[in-house]
Amino acid sequence: MDRTDIAHALKLPVFEKGWVWLVGGGPGDPGLITALGLHALAQADFVLYDALIDETLLTLTKPGAGLIFAGKRAGMRSCKQSDISAMLVDLAKQQKRVLRLKGGDPFVFGRGGEEAGALAKAGIPFRIVPGITAGIGGLAYAGIPVTHRDTNSAVTFITGHDADGKLPQLNWAGLAAGSPTLVLYMARKHAGEIAAALIAAGRRPDEPAAIVANAARPQQSVVVTTLAQMGDAAAASPAVAIIVIGENVKLRGELDWLTRAAAELSPG
Ligand code: SAH
Repeated sequence: MDRTDIAHALKLPVFEKGWVWLVGGGPGDPGLITALGLHALAQADFVLYDALIDETLLTLTKPGAGLIFAGKRAGMRSCKQSDISAMLVDLAKQQKRVLRLKGGDPFVFGRGGEEAGALAKAGIPFRIVPGITAGIGGLAYAGIPVTHRDTNSAVTFITGHDADGKLPQLNWAGLAAGSPTLVLYMARKHAGEIAAALIAAGRRPDEPAAIVANAARPQQSVVVTTLAQMGDAAAASPAVAIIVIGENVKLRGELDWLTRAAAELSPG
């Protein structure tokens, strides 16, 4: 089946001129983009992409498509959010098909809501193409189910970074008491503070936690630790990491399918 047959079978919408599609690229492995995301890549005139996406995806655009980097990269100043939104609006007004490609899911800690808001205000038509978020799919690549009936009937997604780079003002005691599993994005810097707040609110210092860095990428690394050690483990971790706290972390012992697959597939 070729791309056109797939688009037809799945009744995928046509990418109309003058539209902006905000597309989630998934957590790392390029195979985790959705069929609708692929379909968008094949039709876009311009792709504005983030640092977190796998650049292999950019090879799937049509010839002559404009590829614009719009993200943070070590040592470089990040693009301002207002500049990115203005560029999306400008290109759409020029009747281009504009694809905004973001890591994970565009509406999960990814400012997709802000970009969509700017488009709505400017009267630009847009579509949201959800993606697999790092806090779910990235954990799956570490063999950690985000929920499991034996360990946690609830999960909370938290950012460790507010708009000013500070630890968000959250009710940590409420979270400690109410959410058996906590999944932290952008929390490396404040991991120690978060752990201390949770322990002060009654969570066990020996509760399992994991730092999953570069999830679903070839250089994925997973460190299983405890809440008490979490701050130090996070400080030693590569930059792009998801932290998960909860009994579900223990399931990795049995469910780490990726390490097993690598061992089975490697020669000898
Ligand atoms: N919209 C994205 C999140 C953007 S915020 C999503 O839905 O996944 C950026 C943070 O996401 C990073 O600081 C890190 O905490 C997390 N993240 C994104 N990709 C990741 C990956 N491949 N491995 C580990 N963490 C990742």
